[in-house]
Amino acid sequence: MKIKLLDGSIKEFDQATNVRTIAETIAISLKKATAAAKVNGRYVSVDYVIEKDSNLELITNRHEDFYKTLNYTAAFVTGVAISELYKDVKLAKVLYKEDELEYGITFEVEPRIGLEELQNIQNKVNQIIKNESILSKEMDLKEAEEIFKGNQYQLHLAKEMFETYGEITVYTLNGVSIVSKHPITLNLKNIKVVEVQQLTGEYWLNDSKNIMLQKVHGMAAESIETLSSKKEILEDRRSRDHRIINKTLKIFGFDHLVGPGLPLWMPNGTIVKEEIKKYLKEKEWEYDYINVTTPVIGTVELYKKSGHWDHYGEDMFQPFNGGSGSDEQFILRPMNCPHHVAVYKQEQRSYRDLPLRIAEHALQHRYESSGSLTGLERVRAMELTDSHIFVRPDQVEAEFKSIYKLITEVLETFNIQIDYLSLSLRDPEDKVKYYQDDKMWDEAEAALEKVLQDLNIDYKKCIGEAAFYGPKLDIQIKTAQNHEITVSTIQLDFLLPKKFDVTYIDQNQEFKAPIMIHRGLIGTYERFIATLLEQTKGVLPLWLAPNQIEIIPVGSEENIEYANEVKKQLKKDFIRTHVDLRDERLSYKIRDAQTSKIPYQLVLGDQERKDNSVTYRQYGSEQQTTIKLNEFKNMITDLICNKK
Ligand code: ATP
Ligand code: ZN
Repeated sequence: MKIKLLDGSIKEFDQATNVRTIAETIAISLKKATAAAKVNGRYVSVDYVIEKDSNLELITNRHEDFYKTLNYTAAFVTGVAISELYKDVKLAKVLYKEDELEYGITFEVEPRIGLEELQNIQNKVNQIIKNESILSKEMDLKEAEEIFKGNQYQLHLAKEMFETYGEITVYTLNGVSIVSKHPITLNLKNIKVVEVQQLTGEYWLNDSKNIMLQKVHGMAAESIETLSSKKEILEDRRSRDHRIINKTLKIFGFDHLVGPGLPLWMPNGTIVKEEIKKYLKEKEWEYDYINVTTPVIGTVELYKKSGHWDHYGEDMFQPFNGGSGSDEQFILRPMNCPHHVAVYKQEQRSYRDLPLRIAEHALQHRYESSGSLTGLERVRAMELTDSHIFVRPDQVEAEFKSIYKLITEVLETFNIQIDYLSLSLRDPEDKVKYYQDDKMWDEAEAALEKVLQDLNIDYKKCIGEAAFYGPKLDIQIKTAQNHEITVSTIQLDFLLPKKFDVTYIDQNQEFKAPIMIHRGLIGTYERFIATLLEQTKGVLPLWLAPNQIEIIPVGSEENIEYANEVKKQLKKDFIRTHVDLRDERLSYKIRDAQTSKIPYQLVLGDQERKDNSVTYRQYGSEQQTTIKLNEFKNMITDLICNKK
């Protein structure tokens, strides 16, 4: 058989051979250095016997999956430690997420264990990694069913693996076994440190209808240095995670009775959102958009006609009836396009009316899977900065450029760092997802590409990422958790206008179908504000900060009175302030205002009161400046006006 290696070279063997031996034939040192392997894309252990021509990747410490392998192994070892420490443990899944850099193991045990047990688990893990090694075995479903009798989790994983690969890999250590399709090293000497860190819960298969399992988290590495550097990366990511930043800024909240993924905008968040909205509306005014307001529900027929019913099915909240006994059915809209089509159709439009730019910052709801919900980044109730622009064919290019300009100006105002632009095209092979009309697709895709080339913009072509109705340009960013997400989007649509028989009268008095452009200016407020919090690390610019100025009076009643007067003066100019009246020391209050990331602090003592002045300090700076209250007010108003 022929074995093709990662560097393209080919090794021949006259009989079935295991990975360990193949590694040894390549280089003696590789036998020891190989932690696990990938055969034709599937992870296997070094004992795996290859029987036919295959592609082989050896996972050594230079392979991108090495750290992953150590962590899956540590997850299993932790599971073994738990099984040895407590009675009747049912191990569920070994887990590792690239972007989280840590492992997890889920399990069921009665009674449930508490946080105080983590140290015992750590001790046991340390003992195991020093002394033991793991065995692996390939088997069929029958044999696995025998081994895992009574453990529904392993039985589930075994079936799943058998369906995919036709065989099941079972790893065993100290008599404890699990099924794993992930890489696991048999030689525990590869792992130098395992740090058991946390105990939480997780629904089996991430589905809230299932049992809540317990989950131990930790990190593993080949050296203490690697572990510390991974921890630093993790710390940095956590410090940028909008869910963590939210703990101090109090922008949003969730309540399990309201429902998962249904965010509550708290007072601070509402300020940020409304400020952004004011600005976006000004920009839309500048670019000749008109605003409409439409209902958050629509009839099922509306969405059947638009095609969303067929293409969007499971991601929508299910239909509900009108009154009791009524058979009218409605859905919570997952997008606003059909409503805007209905707005367009209120009048017969002519070629002179186009482009018609209908904008609405509109509420919409999507039934995202519970496992995918992430703070404000992915929610089930959201407000999209939406617009549908109806244009004549000869206007597509100019309009696309103008939308792109608008989006860039807006993102620049917020200093948003873009990862890349994605030109999402159809996959011509996919006959199910995409509306079938090659001519339409070819024209639309070519039009978009031409615009991008004209504008000299770098982009990545993503085949198969288009919407079912047309190609799109998405602005992609990376989150603190390393997720790739879309914020702004521009989408061409030749289809919806036809489906709804949307027309305009052209110069020759003939009815023509306009082209529709869907535009998400900054995407949803939810996702955008998550991004903003992460990219600013919670240090919002003055114009967006919920509390713009913290006023700290020093000592006397008169100074407190002056502080209140300053607040009143600033409030007249719509400047948001707070007077700190707590019975704390001045230095403490100043420090507190700094950690709360408030852009300006005013310290008001006797001198300031007598001179009608203020002493201010900017966030992150040590410098103190004293100026007249009026001057300060003008300075702040100017900064806010300029979106600083
Ligand atoms: P995704 O692929 O991220 O689920 P999508 O391609 O379905 O999004 P669109 O229908 O184009 O998204 O939605 C427009 C914008 O709405 C997206 O660019 C994104 O900013 C935002 N968005 C979509 N789904 C969510 C969600 N569940 N939570 C928050 N924002 C969302
Ligand atoms: Zn739309």
